[in-house]
Amino acid sequence: MTTVALEHVSKTFATHESSGGHKITAVEDVSLKLNTGDVLAILGPSGCGKSTLLRLISGIHKPDKGRILYDDVDLEDVPLRERGIGMVFQEGALIPHWESRRSVGFFLSLRNREPEVPEKLHQISKITGIGINQLLDRRPSHLSGGEKQRVGIARALARDLQVLLFDEPFANLDAKYRTEARVELKRLLNAFPVTSVYVTHDQVEAIALSHRIAVMRAGKIDQVGTYQQLYTSPHNIFVATFIGSPPINLFKGRSINGLWQGENFGGYHLRRDLPEDSKVTAAIRAEHMHLQDGGIPGVVEQVVPMLAERHQLITTHLGGETWTITVPLDQHIERGSTIYCGLQENEMLFFDTATGVRIG
Ligand code: ADP
Ligand code: MG
Repeated sequence: MTTVALEHVSKTFATHESSGGHKITAVEDVSLKLNTGDVLAILGPSGCGKSTLLRLISGIHKPDKGRILYDDVDLEDVPLRERGIGMVFQEGALIPHWESRRSVGFFLSLRNREPEVPEKLHQISKITGIGINQLLDRRPSHLSGGEKQRVGIARALARDLQVLLFDEPFANLDAKYRTEARVELKRLLNAFPVTSVYVTHDQVEAIALSHRIAVMRAGKIDQVGTYQQLYTSPHNIFVATFIGSPPINLFKGRSINGLWQGENFGGYHLRRDLPEDSKVTAAIRAEHMHLQDGGIPGVVEQVVPMLAERHQLITTHLGGETWTITVPLDQHIERGSTIYCGLQENEMLFFDTATGVRIG
């Protein structure tokens, strides 16, 4: 297993003249460090540069600036066949630098010779429920897309890899299958730890599979941390709203006499060094708001029961603002009625509205 480090890595593409012939910076000044056995998720919206970043880590793309190190050695100085990289894409597994002759020979030599099948393959077969023969078969033409993906991942893990890279491997599966595949992959990675990077736009997947999450936006990594760190102390509004469901409630306001004052409510203490009357956005999650007599009035727009969580999400609005609060399931709340909301002040976050940067 290997440590992987990215140092100030950038990658720019020139677009074709027919589409304007300008340059797109797909990855900009990204620095990351993965320790041996780490599973890092790269989470971000479509087009933010996740796949490009993964291709840089694999060596498929060369960075324009910066460098990528495997065990402190520049990737460019590691011959392709010695990199020991496994890649799993949306379309299926692909092991680019795999010496195919040797691996086919290895797999063929094991066919119908069960006693010689290595313990590792047996274990993988047991965890995934995939038969040894399917694991060994190089052309499983009778498998569905989802099955191919599972077999591909299991096969990749059966090899002694240094680094395993995933690019939204389950994006094409339906929801039920996706959840199963996720659980299975998690079991596999627990049993056979490999330094891994997992690209996804799905936060649930990122949370379930990784140790840490890097939130990416427009070519840059905004923040790296555990799910809890990102959830409770986001560095900016983008991370705050991208992590968590329903999205965190945002309220526009200003700093007046050291206090935050919003459109509909206010009076919360702010950092003292803020200029008077600067624009500040307050943020608070639905679970930190509740019903409170004499609180902030809101007209109920939507009521969504969350049975597993044992509460209902109530979306309300007042003036130009909309927010969501959690309410116990047994409270009967009608659409169109007015409810009164309170919030836990110590859970509020504050952001500079102009830059999005967290200021409290
Ligand atoms: P993501 O995987 O997050 O959806 P990508 O890494 O695929 O994002 O793309 C990031 C940006 O770089 C996009 O604007 C995309 O159009 C552009 N891009 C990616 N690959 C190429 C390429 N080979 N040539 C030109 N532009 C590219
Ligand atoms: Mg992509």
